[in-house]
Formats: sequence, structure tokens, C-alpha cells
Amino acid sequence: MRQQIVAGNWKMNKNYEEAVELTRAILEKVEKPQGLVVICPPFPHLRDVGKMIKVRKNFHLAAQNMHHEDKGAFTGEVSADMLVSVGAEFVIIGHSERREYFKEKNPLLAQKVNVALARGLRPIFCCGEPLHVREVDTHVGYVSKQLKAGLFHLREEDFRKVVIAYEPIWAIGTGRTASSAQAQEMHAAIRILIARKFGKVVADEMTILYGGSVTAATAEELFSQPDVDGGLVGGASLKPDDFAAIVAALK
Ligand code: PEP
Repeated sequence: MRQQIVAGNWKMNKNYEEAVELTRAILEKVEKPQGLVVICPPFPHLRDVGKMIKVRKNFHLAAQNMHHEDKGAFTGEVSADMLVSVGAEFVIIGHSERREYFKEKNPLLAQKVNVALARGLRPIFCCGEPLHVREVDTHVGYVSKQLKAGLFHLREEDFRKVVIAYEPIWAIGTGRTASSAQAQEMHAAIRILIARKFGKVVADEMTILYGGSVTAATAEELFSQPDVDGGLVGGASLKPDDFAAIVAALK
């Protein structure tokens, strides 16, 4: 069955005390979620935030990134196994900030997806086009290429564990949300692409999130679209009232 999810990506925000306080406030404000709530704190806070949220039904823990090798001389990096050992169940892979600032390309991301799945983590795989691609109307082809390169080598059984997040780059952290029609157009196109590769049943059951300046004011209309199964939320995930309202917008 298709899962409805709101994932909060805290990015590089909050020191330890602030992270504990934010988690406490989120747990207080988010009531009986209609889907899964996935909290994605920075690495140092994973274990303690995970312990706080695991007492609540439908709350899950995610990391924001991981290295593509299992272990070894990669100073400063974090492996999938380490993430699992502190309670992470999901990991964001291919966020546009990783693609842009850390030059992560599709072959590397495919490798990360493989390692994550092999270690029992569910990838939240991000895709999305920059503004200049949207302006010349080639966004569907651009995103299709990202998905084929990052995910289409997987066996069906593994592919089904992935959550896809469509995040148009021009909408991330800009306050400029895609319209619900723009989001629906892309999500439907992604589902058709998946159906061609893995069949309609798999396509219908995949969770496809929208990300890009989702707010309490825009969530309900976005999530009401037939192919939008929730959101990957950055800025608003740091504001407990807003985040709770976004979770409450799940259908
Ligand atoms: C994100 O970080 O994935 C994101 C969508 O950020 P924001 O909601 O701030 O645009």
C-alpha cells in the first residue's frame, strides 16, 4: 500500500540542546499523524532524537546523507551501518544540496542507494530540475534521467522500499512553491515512468513526496493531488506549529 509521509529535513541546523527542544515541541504538537512522520536531524543528534521519537507510533528516524562505502579510510564520513546502529531507518540520498555543493553525481548516488538498501535503510531519493530546465519545458525528461540513473537498476523488491522525493530546485528554500498542478504533473509523469519499468502495481504503491518550500498554507492543496503522497519539508520542519500543520494536511 502507498504510504503517506511527511519528512522534516533539519539540514545543518540546531545544536544538541536545540535539537532536543525541537523534538519535544514536535512530539507535543503533532497529534495522531495520518501517515508516517520522518525526522531527519544532523548526524550527532540521531541517537537521542531517535530515542525520543520511538515511543510514538508512526514516527521514524532518518539521516540526511551517508557514504557510499561500507567502512575504511574516509575521514569525516559516516556509513550506512553506523546509521542503522543508532536507530536510523531511512536516509536521504541525492538531495539537491548534495548534488550541487558536494558534486554528487548519479553513478555515486546509485552506489549509495545500493549500500543503503543492503544495510536495511530505506532511501528517500531526491530528484528535481533547476530553473533553467523548467523554463525550457524539459523538466520531465531531466527528472526521468535522474530516476533511471539512480534507481532503475534495482530489483523490484528493493525498488519498492525506496521513497521518491520530487524537489524542484527553484522551489527549495526560496519561498517559491511549485503549484499543485506543477507538482501533480511531475508526480504523475514519475508514476508512468515507474509503471513502464516495474509495472502498474508497483507504480501505484510507490510513495512520491513533494519538496520545495512546503508551508502550513500550501500543504493541504499539494497533498490533495492524487499522485502527491506527502512532503519533504526543510525550513518549516524547524517550526513545530508549522510542521504539525503540514503533518495534519496528510490525506
Ligand atoms: C528540503 O530541504 O528538502 C526542502 C524542501 O527545503 P524547504 O522546505 O526549505 O524548501
